[in-house]
Amino acid sequence: MLHFSSLDLASPILDAVTREGYDTPTPIQAQAIPPILAGRDMLGCAQTGTGKTAAFALPILHHLHTAPTDTTRRGPAVARALILSPTRELATQIADSFDTYGRGLGLRTAVIFGGVKQTPQVRRLRAGVDIIVATPGRLMDLMDQGYVDLRGVTHFVLDEADRMLDMGFIQPIRRIGAALPTQRQTLLFSATMPPNISRLADSLLRDPARIAVTPVASAAPKIAQSLYMVDNQHKLALLQKLLDDRTVERALVFTRTKHGADNLSRKLSRSGVAADSIHGNKSQAQRQRALEAFRSGRARVLVATDVAARGLDVDAISHVFNYNLPNEPEAYVHRIGRTGRAGALGIAISFCDREERGFLRAIEQLVGARMTAEGGGDDRRSGGGARVEEGGRTESGVAPRRRQRRNPNANGRPKSATRSRSSHGSGGGAPAGGGSRKPGKGVARPQRSRGGGAGRPSRG
Ligand code: AMP
Repeated sequence: MLHFSSLDLASPILDAVTREGYDTPTPIQAQAIPPILAGRDMLGCAQTGTGKTAAFALPILHHLHTAPTDTTRRGPAVARALILSPTRELATQIADSFDTYGRGLGLRTAVIFGGVKQTPQVRRLRAGVDIIVATPGRLMDLMDQGYVDLRGVTHFVLDEADRMLDMGFIQPIRRIGAALPTQRQTLLFSATMPPNISRLADSLLRDPARIAVTPVASAAPKIAQSLYMVDNQHKLALLQKLLDDRTVERALVFTRTKHGADNLSRKLSRSGVAADSIHGNKSQAQRQRALEAFRSGRARVLVATDVAARGLDVDAISHVFNYNLPNEPEAYVHRIGRTGRAGALGIAISFCDREERGFLRAIEQLVGARMTAEGGGDDRRSGGGARVEEGGRTESGVAPRRRQRRNPNANGRPKSATRSRSSHGSGGGAPAGGGSRKPGKGVARPQRSRGGGAGRPSRG
C-alpha cells in the first residue's frame, strides 16, 4: 500500500503528516499529490471529507518550501499561494490545515473572509504572508482597496468551485483570476462538474490532470428517503420505535458528534438493541472491533460520525438514519449512499429538530427537491413558531438533481469513498435522548419508492 513517505514530500511535511496520525494517503491524496508535485494543473471532482485539503495543501507547501528564495528581495513576504473557498468556515479550516501541515516551515498564512472587520486582516496582509486563504467577496474588496498584492502568486486553488458559483461568486473569481500571473499552477476542486464549472475550468486551467473520487450521488435513486420533524428530546424514542421493525436488518445511524455517537449507542444497548459506535476518538482496535461486530451482524446498529463512516465498506446496510442532520449538505448524500449499495434498495430516514431546519434547507437545495414531512410536523412555511412534533413522515425518493452533472472527465469508474481518521464532531451536541413520550402512529415503516421517481416531493 502506498505510504506518505513514497510521495517525495519534504521531511518537515512528512513529519507533520505523521504527527496528525495519517498512515496512508486517502485515494484523492494518492491520485492528486504526484501530479501536483510535478507542477500540473488539476481538475478534481471530490467532496469535502475525502482528505481533499491535504491533497492540495501538502504539495503546495512542498513547492513553497523548496522554491528558491530571492535573497535580493527586501520587505514583507509576498503571497505565493492563493486558495479561494466559498465559506468562512471552510476558509478557516483550510488555513488551519496549512498551518498544521506546514508547521516548522516558517510560512505565514492569512485567512480573509467577510462579515467581520477588515482591519486585522489588512494588518496581517501588510505584515507579509506566503499563503492567503480567502472567500472571493472580501478578497475582491481588499484588492479594490489596494491591500492585496497577488502578483507573486504561483499556486492558485479554487476549492468547492460549484458552491462558489452557486453562491454567485463567478465575477469575483474571474476578476481574481485575471489579477494573477499567467505563469502559475491552478487547481480546481468541485463536488460536481456541471457545464459552468467545466467552462470555468477551461478558462483557468492548462492541460489539467483530471481526477475523481466518490461520486456518491449515483447511489441515490435506489434509496427511499423519509423525513420526520421531531424534537431532539423525542428522537431516541422514535429511533427505538423504528428499530422495532425487524426489516431494519443492519442500520447505520449518524450523529453529529463523537460524544453523541457514544451516548446514543449506550442508550440503545441499554434498551436491548445490539449497537456499537465508531468515531475518530476511538483507537484503531476499537474501531476495528465495532466494524467487525457490525459486519458479522452481532451489532445490528452502528452509530457513527461522518468522517468515521466515510471509509466504511459494509454491504447490505438496510437503513441509514440521520439522527442529526449534517451541517454540510454533501454529507447527507454521502451518508445515504451507504445504504442501497450494489443494486439493493436502501432506506434513509432523517430526523429534523427545529434547530436543524437550516441544514434541511441546505440539503434540499443540494438534492434539488423539497422533502415534506407529512402528518403536520412540518411548519417551516408558517414561520416556525409552533413546536415540531414527531410523527411526520414523507416518502421523498429524492433524485438528486446534481447527479446528472457528474464529472465528465473521469474514466467512468466510480472510485470508492475514502477512509478518514478523525471526526468533524464539533458543535451541535447530541440530543438528550431518553424521550418519555411514545412516538405517534406516523412512525411506522416508511413505504419504499423505487427509482427515485415515485413519491417525489413537491418543490418548495
Ligand atoms: P478534508 O476532506 O480535507 O476535509 O479532510 C477530512 C478529514 O480527513 C480531516 O479531518 C483530515 O484531518 C482527515 N485526513 C486527511 N487526510 C488523511 C489521511 N491520509 N489519513 C487520515 N485522515 C486524513
